[in-house]
Amino acid sequence: MVGLEDIIAAQARIAGKVRETPVRQSASLARLAGAPVWLKCEHHQDTGAFKLRGASNAVARLDDGKAGGIKGVTTASTGNHGRALAQAARDHGMDAVICVSRLVPRNKIDAIEALGAEARVIGATQDEAFEEAHRLEAEEGFALIPPFDHPDVIAGQGTLGLEILAQIPDVGAIAVPLSGGGLLAGVAAAAKALRHDIRIIGISMENGAAMSEALKAGHPVDVTEVETLADSLGGGIGMQNRLTFPMVRDLMDDLILLSEDEIAAGIRHLSVAEGEVVEGAAAVGAGAVLAGKLVSDRPLVLILSGGNIDLARHAAIVRGEA
Ligand SMILES: *Cc1c(COP(=O)(O)O)cnc(C)c1O
Repeated sequence: MVGLEDIIAAQARIAGKVRETPVRQSASLARLAGAPVWLKCEHHQDTGAFKLRGASNAVARLDDGKAGGIKGVTTASTGNHGRALAQAARDHGMDAVICVSRLVPRNKIDAIEALGAEARVIGATQDEAFEEAHRLEAEEGFALIPPFDHPDVIAGQGTLGLEILAQIPDVGAIAVPLSGGGLLAGVAAAAKALRHDIRIIGISMENGAAMSEALKAGHPVDVTEVETLADSLGGGIGMQNRLTFPMVRDLMDDLILLSEDEIAAGIRHLSVAEGEVVEGAAAVGAGAVLAGKLVSDRPLVLILSGGNIDLARHAAIVRGEA
């Protein structure tokens, strides 16, 4: 498991490589939630998503230790982790090969290549892209940095939890977009170690929510990957999951699932009422409040986890056409 000391160490290690992102209050959502609502604007992070925290911590740890023997870093990613790893590798003068499935949107592939990494489009699912990353590790001397199930990645994502507590000391609940669970595990480990009574609420889409299915079954299960507006929440949790499944199971207080219409409403509201352009995965907190599925009696923080969305797609969603 990953503990508070690991997260504090990660914060020191990645300082200067990641941004401290702003928080702001949302009056429109507070009326519906029944308590003050804060937006943690992590879509303003470098590379457009919180994933830079975990990737930077993992690459910095390699650089401290055994980096001498490795040829570079690799991963399989639905987009944002790949982009983050590309940036972190470039920061440390390492090569990066990012394996992505054919479902990953073109704008995310372009962004990886713009950061100087190779984007290798391979397979129809996240799991098939992962096989290529494993091959690069086994046969070509790359270090595989997975998107969530890795202690250094979880600790890096946990720095977001430390930041939230420092910025909003009276926070009572944190709503966390949930896919593989690296973000939720890290944020919950940090927040609950410092404040035992904080509630951690995970939010996923109804379409193919792998962690939700795994929790119901009591172990990781295979889920069919389907298209969703929250594309960064797609993909499995890994049948060999070691860390994020037990951490999410033990640390999460509630899990909310949203329909595609509810996610679209979140994107639209954040744009029209708050002027924030976010991707589907980052809009689930707002979507849950708007749907009446998320209320709180204490200050509530919604993590706007990323902003990497095709702008034409975003405009169509805001117009109600997608
Ligand atoms: C990766 C990602 C998530 C989910 O994070 P996990 O650690 O996989 O649960 C949420 N939002 C965005 C924008 C992401 O890129």
